[in-house]
Amino acid sequence: MPVFDNSEYDNHEQVLFCHDRESGLFAIIAIHDTTLGPAAGGCRMWPYASVEEALLDALRLSRAMTYKNALADLPLGGGKAVIIGDPFKEKNDKLLASFAGFVQRLGGQYYTAEDIGIGIKDVELLARECDYAFGLATTGDPSPFTSLGCFHGMRAAVKHKLGRDSLHGLTVSVQGVGNVGRHLCKNLSEAGAKLIITDVNPGAAAHVSENVEAKVVAPEEIYSQDVDIFSPCARGGILNDDTIPQLKASIVAGSANNQLAEARHGKMLCDRGILYAPDYVINAGGMLNASGDIFGQYDANQVMKRLSGLYDATLRIFETAQQEGRPTSEVADDLARQIIAAKRASKKK
Ligand code: NAD
Repeated sequence: MPVFDNSEYDNHEQVLFCHDRESGLFAIIAIHDTTLGPAAGGCRMWPYASVEEALLDALRLSRAMTYKNALADLPLGGGKAVIIGDPFKEKNDKLLASFAGFVQRLGGQYYTAEDIGIGIKDVELLARECDYAFGLATTGDPSPFTSLGCFHGMRAAVKHKLGRDSLHGLTVSVQGVGNVGRHLCKNLSEAGAKLIITDVNPGAAAHVSENVEAKVVAPEEIYSQDVDIFSPCARGGILNDDTIPQLKASIVAGSANNQLAEARHGKMLCDRGILYAPDYVINAGGMLNASGDIFGQYDANQVMKRLSGLYDATLRIFETAQQEGRPTSEVADDLARQIIAAKRASKKK
């Protein structure tokens, strides 16, 4: 399968196709860039329809990790792994141990963690089988940290777009109320925001609406809700030619990775006057917390300080984008590339 001419290939340093006959493992580990440090990013398990689809996801997600870690000022590069399979039916200890073996053989070039389909318990198993797993019970579930970071990013968007210091009285629609989304609903509700939520799993939406006041709508209705902020917290690719024209929100800010179906959708949002908070900038909270495992030190106060720093970091991107008349997504990508280029140049000296 051609990799170098794949539409999402972006000078990735290494793409490893992993297969183990005994466990039935089929996985891809994509290491995008290690200029700033070892590649770090979660492992996703998903029933991809094809290897091509899995490769596309691994290439896109690993690049986003490079940019996320760079803008979060972490001495880490970007990588991501995908295991092809249904986590509910095909995940077992043997499969995970076999994946851990591939990570171990990379000798620390790639650190793995949880993502969709891979939970903390799985990461603990990976950590028993290899030296390069992070986001363990020591640093705790990353999701509340991710949601808090998103909340700070959302506050920055509200300040920039609406000139307000508070979310009180604003209406926010949340797509996907899983680990991050449900915590975000709590943050938002405590801040006095009104909530409209959806989930393809009706149980998840019902659970949230039992705990906070929220109107539940069908998944296909979420885009056209009359809201101030749309918060995608489910899958990627949901900002596209079909959904963007439906949006009534003036802000998009959520945790989902790779929200833009294609880079040009950042411009499409900008042209429609919708402020887009770049996903990898505001969803870095979990990474800021979990990376303590990699560095062997964890300071909860420091993590909280860095999480609130996402407010200023996001605001700076909005301001630059406004000054330069460019989409926020492009500005964020450029900033991350500049950080990496500067590091590369300093290494050459
Ligand atoms: P999750 O699997 O716990 O939750 C996702 C929820 O979205 C689930 O309840 C699922 O049923 C729902 N969903 C899926 N497709 C949907 C659709 N089309 N419409 C409505 N709901 C849908 O995942 P999570 O850990 O909460 O992560 C959410 C997103 O944030 C993912 O894209 C993930 O990659 C990203 N993210 C998560 C973290 C973290 O700390 N967990 C960190 C960074 C980024």
